[in-house]
Amino acid sequence: TLDFHPAGRHFLQIPGPSPVPDRILRAMSYPTIDHRGPEFGALGLKVLSGIQKIFKTSQPVIIYPASGTGAWEAALSNTLSPGDHVLMYETGHFATLWKKMAEALGLKPEFLGLPGIEGWRRGVQADMIAERLRADTGHSIKAVCVVHNETSTGVTSNIAAVRKAIDSVGHPALLLVDTISGLACADYRHDEWGVDVTVSGSQKGLMLPPGISFNAVSKKAIEASKTAKLPRAFWDWTEIIEMNKVGYWPYTPNTNLLYGLHEALDMILGEGLDNVFARHQRLAAACRTAVDTWGLEVQCKDAAVYSPVLTGVMTPEGVDADAVRKVIYERFNMSLGTGLGKMKGRMFRIGHLGEANELTLMATLAGCEMGLKLAGIKLAGSGVAAAMENLSASGQETPRLQ
Ligand code: PLP
Repeated sequence: TLDFHPAGRHFLQIPGPSPVPDRILRAMSYPTIDHRGPEFGALGLKVLSGIQKIFKTSQPVIIYPASGTGAWEAALSNTLSPGDHVLMYETGHFATLWKKMAEALGLKPEFLGLPGIEGWRRGVQADMIAERLRADTGHSIKAVCVVHNETSTGVTSNIAAVRKAIDSVGHPALLLVDTISGLACADYRHDEWGVDVTVSGSQKGLMLPPGISFNAVSKKAIEASKTAKLPRAFWDWTEIIEMNKVGYWPYTPNTNLLYGLHEALDMILGEGLDNVFARHQRLAAACRTAVDTWGLEVQCKDAAVYSPVLTGVMTPEGVDADAVRKVIYERFNMSLGTGLGKMKGRMFRIGHLGEANELTLMATLAGCEMGLKLAGIKLAGSGVAAAMENLSASGQETPRLQ
């Protein structure tokens, strides 16, 4: 802990929770209303239809007053039965945690992936999924579970390719996808990609505090829920979907976070989803330019799946990444993401999601560059200067302010 109160705003540059814009904080400060009253029903209907646009779905989206982990459990427990065989893909720490949860719930997860650390540096290999499903002639595999944006590494997998892999072998498994950190940062198409359950959360691209999470469902997932035998009560979709038709929930919803969601939807849809995605891509590209120029390595090894949400930065062999983070926190009042699981101490993560813009990214990179130098790392060049060049190059224009 710091023994002084640092000046200015804390730079929260972890890959979620992301900074909450003032507009959203103000919206959430309104008095809590009766969650059975008419005013609430109108709010409920508005947020439930607005969030469908973000998932690109015409199917129901369930909103839980829970963190993302709750929505993970809801996705599994509504669609599967004890002992069901599920195919999960190891992209990183969050995929590993989801698998651990599947085990705890009494499922039989099979973990597919590239060996060692390699799998944590690349996206989901859809051909491996196709191959595994082709061998499953008895259709014992009931679901395929993948993480869209692996927050522990900075890799955004190609979900359309996973859908294609499943279809290419005519396998009936459900497709469950975690886009907790991808939603409203990277393009995501629940209906078009034939995803059966999409799991997401509030505290990343939606720019809200932690505390609400989502299940977007498909007709096939709802059908599966009718025979799924895993015990569930709070997470059960049936009554929630029924009451949501008129804008209410069977329990006390997180009213103030729904005010925030209403505001966030207004901001995101006002900017335009495609502009939001392009902004994230632009900032991520500038961030990677900085990392390259410092002479450091980006965690993700495949340019086709670089994450627009965050960039994982490997520290040189023998340099503890958490020591670098500590210097930056103490000297510059900025939080960066720690290395998780297999990457502990080997990398730090720079979040550039949510309301991030060119100048917040530049300040973030400046903090990183100064911190890297203070930690005694010899840099090959100024990443800050390179990122500025990148962001001010022609063809990189942001939509002009009116
Ligand atoms: N999945 C991914 C990809 C995440 O990034 C996170 C949180 O960072 C989770 C799952 C877990 O969500 P929560 O911490 O909100 O329970």
